[in-house]
Amino acid sequence: MKVTLKCHCGQKIFSKDIMQRNFYVRQYGPSYVYIKYRCSRCKKLGEHFIKQEEWDDSLLRDNMTELEPDEKLRFEKLGKISEKEIKEFHSYLDRHSLRKIKDWKEDK
Ligand SMILES: [Zn+2]
Repeated sequence: MKVTLKCHCGQKIFSKDIMQRNFYVRQYGPSYVYIKYRCSRCKKLGEHFIKQEEWDDSLLRDNMTELEPDEKLRFEKLGKISEKEIKEFHSYLDRHSLRKIKDWKEDK
């Protein structure tokens, strides 16, 4: 399943909005991509954790095609990531000793 990067306000996140991108890897189990962004519409900072297997750099392409209406509905039903979930994920990272192996910087 492909994920969509969206701000809490519903704005899609593109590569130009990304401030920080890290890669977390575990010896066992899935690795994660961590995205920190500033929304181009509401200017708020946000974070996303995505399983590496669900990550695709094309998610950030500006010319991404719009989702089909039924697909859109499906994503809306999945709900938004809450502050609590992000905090839980941070402690999950600590507990499972995920190692940050590299920082991705945008070339600008
Ligand atoms: Zn926003």
